[in-house]
Amino acid sequence: MINFNVPPCIGKEKECIEEAIANHKICGDGVFTKKCSEWLENKTKTSKALLTTSCTHATEMAALLCNIQPGDEVIMPSYTFVSTADAFVLRGATAVFVDIRPDTMNIDESLIEGAITEKTKAIVPVHYAGVSCEMDTIMDIAKRHHLYVIEDAAQGIMSTYKGKALGTIGDYGCYSFHETKNYSMGEGGALLIKDEKNAEDAEIIREKGTNRSKFFRGQIDKYTWVEAGSSYLPSELNAAYLWAQLSEAEMINENRRYSWDLYYEMLKPLEERGLIDLPVVPEDCVHNAHMFYVKTKDLSERSALISYLKENGVMAVFHYIPLHNAPAGKKYGRFYGEDCYTTKESERIMRLPMYYNLTEEDIHTVVKHVKAFYRV
Ligand SMILES: *Cc1c(COP(=O)(O)O)cnc(C)c1O
Repeated sequence: MINFNVPPCIGKEKECIEEAIANHKICGDGVFTKKCSEWLENKTKTSKALLTTSCTHATEMAALLCNIQPGDEVIMPSYTFVSTADAFVLRGATAVFVDIRPDTMNIDESLIEGAITEKTKAIVPVHYAGVSCEMDTIMDIAKRHHLYVIEDAAQGIMSTYKGKALGTIGDYGCYSFHETKNYSMGEGGALLIKDEKNAEDAEIIREKGTNRSKFFRGQIDKYTWVEAGSSYLPSELNAAYLWAQLSEAEMINENRRYSWDLYYEMLKPLEERGLIDLPVVPEDCVHNAHMFYVKTKDLSERSALISYLKENGVMAVFHYIPLHNAPAGKKYGRFYGEDCYTTKESERIMRLPMYYNLTEEDIHTVVKHVKAFYRV
């Protein structure tokens, strides 16, 4: 059986976790958390990165930092994971869904401006499969309309747009270190903050509304409750697991890119014959091989292909039921304009096994079965 996902583990995780235990420091913000956040700041060249308990929580923090209020509207794609909307809906906002581009499956930047109303507060681009949205256009719209930009870069760590790390272009960027992502700590994430002046408020929200972070740095002699906040800091045990991987980030990235390129090259003949479509990566984007997907003709062909692969020991999956079609999406959101591609393209997507250390042999096996399905 070839699994769809295997959580990343490079072998040094256990050693790092044991070190955290030996340090007698297993709650948040110890040496491993510090190593991870400094690595993120250096790697992405952002002013501040805070490790969080999830990408969902990082997005919730961003919603709090942007002071999203009941009645506000937040523009996002409908083709995304629920967390993108949840973080804002929890604050009482309405999710305004905009159609996607069929090539990258990212929000169609040319439709965003039409969706803006007097209530619009923010735009949330989602970098699907670690391939960037058209950020120059999005940032220009946001600037002219005085809107926040919060990047859902859950899948986008190590990816760039015109040389800039995803998650560092908007006001806030959110990463995920869930076990299905390129780098993992089981459950976890990070909030990237572009403007240094917002870092202190973020630290307070993350530490139960206290200025404890300042106290730890020796900037004040006692800490106190200064604002409304919550607990968004992960345990050192999780940070230790993540650190093992971040310290080998390039190696993991190259390994995934190798697998991705191999899939692409081997499946290209099927695309040339018009049987499937393959992912599109625009020129300005460098991606991180977060996922490899193919697009079938339609929903019924996809179901048949997934079943066929399963019968042959290959786990392939599909995802995102568009949010505007979901019960909560109907309650908390609305679709702006026409759904030309969101539903149609979401029904064609099938993801192939993709993880760190997927073997070349397994890739050959997967491709062999896909080809057999199409009788190629
Ligand atoms: C994985 C994912 C999330 C949620 O990440 P968690 O760390 O599990 O909260 C949010 N948005 C997108 C696009 C994702 O892929």
